[in-house]
Amino acid sequence: MSDEQTYIKFAIADFSRVKECASACKSMLGTQIFDAVIDALKKEIAVPAQKEWDKSIGGERFYRYVCPECENVLRPRSKFKYCPYCGQRIDWEDKS
Ligand SMILES: [Zn+2]
Repeated sequence: MSDEQTYIKFAIADFSRVKECASACKSMLGTQIFDAVIDALKKEIAVPAQKEWDKSIGGERFYRYVCPECENVLRPRSKFKYCPYCGQRIDWEDKS
């Protein structure tokens, strides 16, 4: 995992703590702001593309890749860094 990804995880942990403070202080706006920030940061954590059988082609012969977040089909040839549908960062490293 790259340093950048590690820092983002630290940032998520930090903002989660700040969010807890905001909700303890009953700051609705603060809680909502940190919820939004944490959600945005989570999309920056690369999640492996999900491999599944493409049954539309017929049987279990072909794989297709789907976004782990919104389950839309991703084109493996384009290998977008981010899901074009929901913005989730995709990890294309196939370790299998
Ligand atoms: Zn998606």
